[in-house]
Amino acid sequence: MKRLEKLYKNIMRNGGFVNAHAHLDRANTVDYFPDWEQYKFLKEKWKLVDRIKRGATKESYKTRIHEALDDQIKMGVTAVMSFIDIDDVVDTKAIDAAREVKQERKDIKLLTACQTLKGVINPGIQAIIIENIEKFDIIGSLPSADRDPNSHHLDIVMGWAKEYGKRLHVHVDQLNTPEERETELLARKTMQHGLEGQVTAVHGISIASHKKSYREEVYKMCNDAGVSFITCPSAWIDHPRREDLVPSHNAVTPVDELLEWDLTVAIGSDNIHDIYKPYCNGDMMFELRLLLESCKLYIPDTLMHIATTNGKKVLGIL
Ligand SMILES: [Zn+2]
Repeated sequence: MKRLEKLYKNIMRNGGFVNAHAHLDRANTVDYFPDWEQYKFLKEKWKLVDRIKRGATKESYKTRIHEALDDQIKMGVTAVMSFIDIDDVVDTKAIDAAREVKQERKDIKLLTACQTLKGVINPGIQAIIIENIEKFDIIGSLPSADRDPNSHHLDIVMGWAKEYGKRLHVHVDQLNTPEERETELLARKTMQHGLEGQVTAVHGISIASHKKSYREEVYKMCNDAGVSFITCPSAWIDHPRREDLVPSHNAVTPVDELLEWDLTVAIGSDNIHDIYKPYCNGDMMFELRLLLESCKLYIPDTLMHIATTNGKKVLGIL
């Protein structure tokens, strides 16, 4: 049997793919946007998606999430963790829909985390999230949505993780630039808040644009803090070319190095058929193949665990 086929069979035998990071409430919405908007920069798209949120109803969210789950099942996924938008534009339409879908589906496990596209510092937004926090399985976070030199954002979401006894997933270091040091900050804050083992970094791509001594410091710190990782290999593979002089690397989380440091790594699809990734179909086998090629990961068991068991670990369902 060919390697890739064998890998797929082993993943299925081990319970199927765990897609540890997605945004299913916005899946299949690319046609809401003219083609030229699909080329805009990530942070501009954070605002453009308000258009979907405004126009959608709870029912349309439900239909969309159901359809995305149907597609995930066809591709061998048995559990998905989806961030779900919550802010003053969408209010609770998306999370209320996701909760109903979660109850209705017996054929796939759906977990949710709050997607904080408008930050968590604004008191009005904060109030909406707190009021609905028990509806989410995991506290989700996007620190760069807050202009926040004192990293107050992380203190707030870590406070919630403690208060409500939930795991925390944080988008960090996703722009592949040495200007970012968010994974380091996340590890430091995790230890300050005593949340060792409860925090997962989503992306961590920019780590690879720093020199080796810094990368090793970050890995050691993550190890001490028990910070685990979710890589979404195709998420930033399209990043705009830049002129920084950095250690040569590709735009994927440096998973080969994370594994050398015994860090737990799971895998996610991130955005599916939306303004961020118009052609991403959520195929986890594609994501896994991209990961194994870009990080030269050839050990079958390692790959199988990234696709299955490690996903359950970072979701807290193992
Ligand atoms: Zn994401």
